[in-house]
Amino acid sequence: MTASTFGRERPAERMIGVEEAQQRVLDAVGRLDAERVPLGAALGRVLREDVIAPRDVPGADNSAMDGYALCASDVEHASDDAPVVLRVAGDLPAGAVTEGTVEPGTAMRIMTGAPVPRGADCVAQVEITDGGNAEVRVFRPLTPGTNIRRRAEDMREGEIVLHTGARIGPGELGVAASAQRSELLVGRRPVVAVFSTGAELVDVGSPVGAGQVVNSNSFSLAALAEEAGADVRRMGIVGDTKEATVRAIEAALGADIVLSSGGVSVGAYDFVKDALDDLGAETIFWKVAMKPGKPVVFSRLRGKLYFGLPGNPVSCMVSFHLFIAPALRKATGMTTGLLPPVVHARLAAPLEAKGDRRVYMRVRVTACGGELVAAPAKAQGSGVSTSMVGANGLAILEPGASLFAAGDTAPVVLIGPIAAG
Ligand code: AMP
Ligand code: MG
Repeated sequence: MTASTFGRERPAERMIGVEEAQQRVLDAVGRLDAERVPLGAALGRVLREDVIAPRDVPGADNSAMDGYALCASDVEHASDDAPVVLRVAGDLPAGAVTEGTVEPGTAMRIMTGAPVPRGADCVAQVEITDGGNAEVRVFRPLTPGTNIRRRAEDMREGEIVLHTGARIGPGELGVAASAQRSELLVGRRPVVAVFSTGAELVDVGSPVGAGQVVNSNSFSLAALAEEAGADVRRMGIVGDTKEATVRAIEAALGADIVLSSGGVSVGAYDFVKDALDDLGAETIFWKVAMKPGKPVVFSRLRGKLYFGLPGNPVSCMVSFHLFIAPALRKATGMTTGLLPPVVHARLAAPLEAKGDRRVYMRVRVTACGGELVAAPAKAQGSGVSTSMVGANGLAILEPGASLFAAGDTAPVVLIGPIAAG
């Protein structure tokens, strides 16, 4: 068995701060190539082209209401006591187009979405009329333009309506459809390989002997990567030898990004860093001044990126949110919002941290009466996987200023959506 290497610290291996580590990650990640996908399969993907409106939407001034197209000057003095009576000269359901003109003293019945006929300059919604068929009584005055949606108020021909780098959500899909795009050019999904190192690990469903631990990281990490849009290859458990670790890394290099958990510290059986060194990997960083998750190795190897995450389940997931999620966002082509957002939230319980590293504490952030409230998980140990259940935030406790009372406001990194309290 190979012994672990102690005391060989190169500049890239010095402990750095979280922001510096995140910057090195973003600097190292390139954009993956793009592919064309059908519109219906584009949800969650990142746009790699600008989408340009091929025509004006709406294509003509049209009615925003069901009612009557008319001339505002005709109803200037309309009231409940003195309704204006207009002859109904036509009927325009949605989609109907008329060549006719609304002459003074007349109106056309019009449904929402139908183009406004010539001559009319406003639409009286049916509620302020008697709803008549041959003639209609209008009870209120209207100003020109009322209830008319203007041609091109949504998109103008030639205008960029979706920008490259946008993550495609429901709103973007609707706009792409309106712009007649049945296919979109999007970033390829990053292929992410995941394996777990540890002689103590057993698969889910196997009996757990004394000293053994169920390989849960494999599932949580794969799930995080999938949620971030990756195409995940789960590669199972790797024993604590340098040879096995080297083989696992080589086998994983078909992926764009390799994630491993465990074996990345300086223990006698931590072989990830040694294996990477043997393979000639370039270390971009190794230790980050944070808790949980200090030992995180980030390397470049044969054109691929490798993240060796700590084995403790919480450290592993926290490192993912801080470093790998931003890397995946950049790889798919996002250009803004790469790092997780930081908000300020009122703490529902006190938090205290000791030591010289920044501490990230799991909290559940909810919106209570318009304010963000963060409830800390009861146990904050880096091995307490249940502290990640329901956690959507990481409260930041800087070294030195490490005491918050209940009711204090603390900075919180958001790692999931905020629910109502
Ligand atoms: P290591 O970073 O390899 O020193 O692992 C630290 C601790 O994390 C181990 O003692 C295990 O209890 C735990 N651990 C390591 N790998 C996993 C895993 N794949 N799933 C769950 N827990 C793990
Ligand atoms: Mg280990």
